[in-house]
Amino acid sequence: MMNKSLSIPPYTIHPFTSGTFGLDGGAMFGSVPKVLWQRTNPADEANRITMACRHLLIEGNDRLILVDTGMGSGWTEKQVKMFRIEQAENAVDSALKGIGFSSEQVTDVILTHLHFDHVGGATQADGGELVPAFPNARYYTQRAQWDLANSPSLKDRASFVPDNFLPLERHGRLELLEGEQEVAPGVSVLVGNGHTDGHQMVKVTGGGETVVFLGDTVPTATHLALPYLMGYDLRPLQTMEEKAKLLAQAAEEGWWLFFDHDPELPGVKVAPGEKYVQIIERYGQ
Ligand SMILES: [Zn+2]
Repeated sequence: MMNKSLSIPPYTIHPFTSGTFGLDGGAMFGSVPKVLWQRTNPADEANRITMACRHLLIEGNDRLILVDTGMGSGWTEKQVKMFRIEQAENAVDSALKGIGFSSEQVTDVILTHLHFDHVGGATQADGGELVPAFPNARYYTQRAQWDLANSPSLKDRASFVPDNFLPLERHGRLELLEGEQEVAPGVSVLVGNGHTDGHQMVKVTGGGETVVFLGDTVPTATHLALPYLMGYDLRPLQTMEEKAKLLAQAAEEGWWLFFDHDPELPGVKVAPGEKYVQIIERYGQ
């Protein structure tokens, strides 16, 4: 599903979603009790809340930059049920077509991190082989994230599926970034280690406006409240600090902030609020 596009000269940014899935609400809100989070994020009979797979497509400067690749299609029937995966066939490719592009035209893929709901669509089966799903693109992740994904701990092992990312290296498509840097003029990554090692948000600046794709640092609007932290975070206190710093600057400078997993709200502008920040503008509404 596509939202209206946003102009950050010389770029046009197209936010879109490639599907939804369900994750345990308790895991998504860590130590916050259900009586609080269920008001904004109602759970189903298996306690799962609805999560979107949201992306940005950044067009301009002779580049077509895709942020994150969604769940992909390599799921068993059992997993589709467990994660309540709902998406069209070739979900990202058909969304791109809806915007007027094809997977072949993508020049760059920025992966916020390598958890399966962000990198699942990076590869696809071609005969018996797994190949990059965006055949002409360079794929970017942080070296720290790459290292962790290749030797995860028992806590986060289930979040990494090697078939999603090893073929990128095998086909020479992988670029490992180290710290904050520009991927294209005006398009840079902001690195944090709270959610996972080397998680990167994506920042686009131009024409006096700034857009940040928050990734799993702030997955939904509900997580704008600083102590709302995911059980999946490796270092929740660090996530809280990263959020506080980012949201303070976003409120000060009027940035558009886009959520990767909010099923209702693509993005917001915020201002300082009573306790944390408050939403002052909803994207597309
Ligand atoms: Zn994640």
